[in-house]
Formats: sequence, C-alpha cells, structure tokens
Amino acid sequence: MVYSQKQQDIAGKIDRAVDRSLWEDWRWQVRHTIHDLPTFERLLGVEFSAETRAQFSHTVAKFPLAVTPYYLSLIDRDNYAADPVFKQAFPSSAELEVGPHDHEDPLDEEADSPAPGITHRYPDRVLFHVSNVCSMYCRHCTRKRKVGDVDSIPGKEQILAGLAYIRRTPVVRDVLLSGGDPLMLANDYLDWILGELRAIPHVQVIRIGTRMPVVLPYRVTEALVAVLKKHHPLWLNTHFNHPREITTSAREAMARLANAGIPLGNQTVLLAGVNDCPLIIRTLVQKLVENRVRPYYLYQCDLAEGLSHFRTPVGKGMEIMESLIGHTSGFAVPTYVIDAPGGGGKIPVMPTYLISQATNKVVLRNYEGVITTYQEPDNYQPAFCDRDCAGCKLDLHLEGTEEYPAIGIERLISDYDEAISLTPEDNDRMKRRNDE
Ligand SMILES: *Cc1c(COP(=O)(O)O)cnc(C)c1O
Repeated sequence: MVYSQKQQDIAGKIDRAVDRSLWEDWRWQVRHTIHDLPTFERLLGVEFSAETRAQFSHTVAKFPLAVTPYYLSLIDRDNYAADPVFKQAFPSSAELEVGPHDHEDPLDEEADSPAPGITHRYPDRVLFHVSNVCSMYCRHCTRKRKVGDVDSIPGKEQILAGLAYIRRTPVVRDVLLSGGDPLMLANDYLDWILGELRAIPHVQVIRIGTRMPVVLPYRVTEALVAVLKKHHPLWLNTHFNHPREITTSAREAMARLANAGIPLGNQTVLLAGVNDCPLIIRTLVQKLVENRVRPYYLYQCDLAEGLSHFRTPVGKGMEIMESLIGHTSGFAVPTYVIDAPGGGGKIPVMPTYLISQATNKVVLRNYEGVITTYQEPDNYQPAFCDRDCAGCKLDLHLEGTEEYPAIGIERLISDYDEAISLTPEDNDRMKRRNDE
C-alpha cells in the first residue's frame, strides 16, 4: 500500500503519533471519520468561504457529513471545488432544494418490505439491509432519508427476522446484503450472517454491496477475505464513480477479493459534474476490468430528495453508452438503467441498434454507423410451448428447474398464457365495461 505525503500530513493533523500501520487500520479510519466543518478544513488544508460555512450547518442538519480520512486524502486541495471526490463527499446547499418530482423514498423500498430490513421486489431475489452505517456518506445516496437517522447496526432480532423471512420464502435464490455498508459489521458478525444464509438450501447466491474498496480499502483485510471465501458462491459489487478513486490501495483491495475467487462487479451512478463524460466513464470501466472488476450497472441518478444538482438528462447516459458499445471490450460495458420510481425496478435503456425489420430480415446499424442486414431463417419451426417440459422435443431434463408463472410482458409473448393485453388496474374504460 502507499502512504503518501498527503496522507501523512492528514494523519499527522489527527494525531502526531500515527504511523502507516495505524493509517491503514480501518477501525482507526472509522474512529476518525470527519463529521464537522472545522476538521474538514483543517485536514484538507483549505479555508471555505463564509457562504460555504453558512450553508454547511443547514445542510448537515438534514443530511449529515461523514468522510474517512482516506477518502478525504484523494481530494485535490488546490482545485477542490471541481474535484469529483470532493463533490461526492462534501455537502452542498443544493441538497436542500426539493423539486416537485423528488421523492423521499424514490424506489418505494418501504412498500416492498415484507419483513424488517428486507426489500423483496423481484421474483427470485431480495435486498437484506444488515447495516445502517456507512464509513462515508455519499452525497448522492439514494437512501439519504435514512442516513444518520438510525446510525446503528440493526439488532440481532432484526437480522433474525430477515433470516426467518428468507428461510420461509423458497423463491429467494439470491440474497443481496446491503445497508448501509455490510462491511461495517465486524468479521465475526458477518461470518455468522453469511453462515446462516448459506445454511438455507434455496439460497444459491449471496451478494454483498459495499463501497469499502472505494472509500476505505483498508477494510478489505486478509482476515475479512478469509471469512468471505468460506461462504462461496459469494459475489461482491462495489461503487466506483471516477477513475481517480482507483488508487493503489483500492487496487490491492480488489486484488485480494479477486484472488479469493470472489467475482467483482461495479455500480456507477451517473452524476453531473462528477462523471458525466464519455471519456471519464470509458477510462473508469477500462481501469475496472484491468482490476478484474466487471462494470455491472450505470445508474441514472434517481429521484431521491436533494439530488437534483447531480441529475443529468437521460441523453447524457445514452451518449456515454454510445461511446462504449463497440468502442471497448464488451465486458467493460455496463448496463445503463433507470431505477423506476414507485418500485418499478431497474429498467435498461440503450441506444437503438435495430433500425428496421421485414418478415425475413432485420436492418441493423453498428457503432461506426455501418448499416447492415441479418437474414433470418426461412424454415424455423418454433416449438409450441405448453410448459410440458417432459413431452418437449428440446429434451430438457434439467434437475432442479422449477416452474414459475409468467410475469408481465412474458405472458403476452408465451404460448401457454392466454393474456393478449395488459391493462392498468384503474383503467376507466375497463371499469365502464365491468359496470355494464
Ligand atoms: C437492484 C436490486 C436488486 C438486484 O437487482 P439485480 O438486477 O439482480 O442486480 C434486488 N432487489 C432490489 C430491491 C434492488 O433494488
């Protein structure tokens, strides 16, 4: 790991006796998380304007500040106002602006919560909030409403209630530990939760969503990795937003995880003034794959309160996707998604490549602007699917495959479901029909 001059300066201002091993001790970093303005100024070595100071207290009263000394050390103090790390870490008065389309709980997570700490939105997987704490509060957090609200680790009873829900809900084959940051939990506690999940036969995959490799890479110790790899298959998604965050320490954290056989993914949020640039995102995704991290999602910034200054038009995301698809390795290209307000979930959006169609061919364009055709087969015999897999010529013989009901658009497409249209529940025309 590196212990740069800048980091030594910051460490020295916290405590004269800090050596490198203490700086790299994640608990020391958490203990010295910066929550107030004078400390922020003193450690960074800057003086904010009177105006910044005045807005600060109003903003943090609603959305508190927390930055690890490590993450603070990534800020370019000579150009801090434009710095992407600074913008993700330091409160802005714009956070207090609540627009007419902002939501307190934009993804309706509370409504989709069948048990404490559980969000069950998709058929086969759940979010399990095992921690309300983060080592750093991202200014663009979608769960801003909760940050600092109950700054605690949920009690064991709550975790047990979540585990009980997963245990009694056999459709759940994928559990995503979220929070807060699950890696704020002590190794032993995490080990216990992961062990309980692993003991549930229908839980095939466990995932951890954490920003530790970005904001506190020293959390990824050999001891932590030893715990995680006991519970394979375990995947980990992290949250790099800018290539500047990929430091030597971050690289080492990712290497430790990857060496333990943990597949790594990354979720980036598209943020105005931080990474809304094709070149920045391209550099980011290329650096990620260099570190064995697969770019997973690029999120349109959602409609949580206090994020309006971070939002870009969807067109900016499309422009970025256009600059990635075909231009760089396919596995470096994330899926661009809009997390639909009201609990609609993640909806992928991307530029259009299919530009026209006839009965036997499609017309496509590629990233270079080449327009081309694909001739479709003349003699394709689709198998009629009545979901009788035993009698199907495809000879499935899959063990452990369970029938699941068709959902939504799948119903319209399938042979075995008779639905020919989907109609909103409150459709007036249908109400009139039913009344007659
Ligand atoms: C994002 C999310 C998931 C996981 O979705 P994937 O597309 O499988 O990564 C699960 N539950 C909720 C509530 C989510 O927001």
